[in-house]
Amino acid sequence: MTTSPISKIILEGREFLVKRDDLIDPYLAGNKYRKLYALLTTPKEQLNTIISYGGTQSNAMLAIAAMCKKKGWKFFYYTKPLSSFLKRDKSANYADALCLGMQHIEIEENMYREFISTLRFNLDKKTVVIDQGGADVSAKAGLEVLAQEIREQNPNVKVLATPSGTGTTALFLALALPEYIVYTTPSVGDIEYLKEQMRALHRLPKNLIILKPKKKYHFAKPYREFYEMYMKLLNAGIEFDLLYAPSLWIALLEQIEEKVLYIHSGGVSGNRSMLERYFKKFKELT
Ligand SMILES: *Cc1c(COP(=O)(O)O)cnc(C)c1O
Repeated sequence: MTTSPISKIILEGREFLVKRDDLIDPYLAGNKYRKLYALLTTPKEQLNTIISYGGTQSNAMLAIAAMCKKKGWKFFYYTKPLSSFLKRDKSANYADALCLGMQHIEIEENMYREFISTLRFNLDKKTVVIDQGGADVSAKAGLEVLAQEIREQNPNVKVLATPSGTGTTALFLALALPEYIVYTTPSVGDIEYLKEQMRALHRLPKNLIILKPKKKYHFAKPYREFYEMYMKLLNAGIEFDLLYAPSLWIALLEQIEEKVLYIHSGGVSGNRSMLERYFKKFKELT
């Protein structure tokens, strides 16, 4: 396995370092690569089926599909019913995951929760269930590898930052690097909800600091200031995702003065479907 490089960018006159986990692989990149590391290093004969569930344009879905293609494992992915739009016009992460061999199964809205809760019943030894977004203690191993890379690269900062969905990445990174501060922001729900999800995995370490965004954002909705932040970063030389990264970058610029090493969490392939929605909502951007 190769170590991802560290780049420098200048933003509003400040220098930031970026750990380029986005460059690891077109599909299997960012924190999904780190979170799936334990499975990626599992000999392929040991398993034959992966099961997961969640959103239809999920980055985790695409990363798992790419992993299963590499390994020759079957991949069953459960979601609520597709929107009529996506059914007609298969696009972006969803289309790519299907091309990689993902078998998609829609579950009726009113049966969904109960169905998901039964996924682990009667599993055979060669099948693994990955919870939505890869929120699992098995993510720990890959984040320890990331921590070791950072130690070896010795970037001369004391502060790291990475955005949170389930919080799995930020939590295990902070646990693996107690000598660094790790900043994160919630993207799904508020700080309390994020802490709750993290606590389901591990007690919260002191060096993990959750910054509060100035405004309440709803996950995966287009916001003008997110697009502006995305463009600012793109002009500075690096493309970031439109769902998680903008809110953390805004918080870092507004609330933090120390020099930061930002861990790129990947997800750039999802921008195709998000940009379409941005251009639809803000006609003047096109
Ligand atoms: C999945 C994802 C996250 C969230 O990671 P968690 O470990 O669930 O907190 C952040 N950024 C990107 C780009 C992602 O795809």
